[in-house]
Amino acid sequence: MTARFIRESHNPRAAVQYFNQCESFSSRSPSHSPGVSNPSFVAYWAQEGVEWIKAYTDIRSAELKAAIDEAHKRGLKVTGHLCSVSFREAVDLGIDNLEHGMLTDTDFDPQKKPDVCPPNSLMRVAVASLTSDTAKSVIQKMVAKGVGMTSTLAVFEPFFANRPTKDERTLEAMSPEVRTAYLNVRTNIDTASSPMFTAPMLKNAMAFEKAFVDAGGRLAAGVDPTGFGGALAGFGDQRNYELLIEAGFTPAQTIQIMSANGAKILGVYDELGSIERGKLADLVVLDGNLVSDPSVIRKVTTVFKDGVGYDSAKLIAAVKGRVGID
Ligand SMILES: [Zn+2]
Repeated sequence: MTARFIRESHNPRAAVQYFNQCESFSSRSPSHSPGVSNPSFVAYWAQEGVEWIKAYTDIRSAELKAAIDEAHKRGLKVTGHLCSVSFREAVDLGIDNLEHGMLTDTDFDPQKKPDVCPPNSLMRVAVASLTSDTAKSVIQKMVAKGVGMTSTLAVFEPFFANRPTKDERTLEAMSPEVRTAYLNVRTNIDTASSPMFTAPMLKNAMAFEKAFVDAGGRLAAGVDPTGFGGALAGFGDQRNYELLIEAGFTPAQTIQIMSANGAKILGVYDELGSIERGKLADLVVLDGNLVSDPSVIRKVTTVFKDGVGYDSAKLIAAVKGRVGID
């Protein structure tokens, strides 16, 4: 890639707004948080310029339905990191996207009751059969309604023993206190005599994402600072690339999952998400052949943002020891 930019422009994207059934988690919340069942919650955030709302683990179906209807009326979209409402239920309510893949889908939890997030659900969900009618039905329903899914395998990986979760660059970016806490957790996991999370669980989560895409589903990928905090922005995204390859996707599929598909789900594919004339020049330049070696995803030389190139090594040096402070 030699073009400095495809088109010069700035495209500020409003933040996603999170909500649970009764409260907002945002510091910008109105002083008397009205609750999601009240359409004024969605109306307020629509006025603030929010384009997406993210429902969280304890929301009930009625509130989720009210929020989705109000959001759609105002041209907003809704995604969910769910538990109390299953994927199939959320699709029926009209949700636009689902976060984190199989491990948060309580369709697979035999202890699931309506509108309640069962304790330790993930442990039962992670061992569910992907050849079951439930798995087929979840995937079919999401594909039929065009509901996307966001893979966050790099966020889950640090839960599992004996995985490569001590990337030097990630550890160097952490502040000393955050690094120590993270390494302590990781050591406990790697030395546990009977680990809670076992290797087949991670393989299952990967296989669900592969089956979803094979059935025609639209998968995107991302990271967030939850879990054990080992999936940092940027480095975590690069790890997602390697994990999606491990899940069985081709390099071309994986690049699309990490770029074009996200833009399509967000409804901004006419502006970004692929390298085309007229689109924003948001891209990275890699040193090597990504097709033959997935680790080339880590060898970034230049990051282009809105057509401006940034030296990757300088960017990384600038945040050394800062994660957990800034
Ligand atoms: Zn989440």
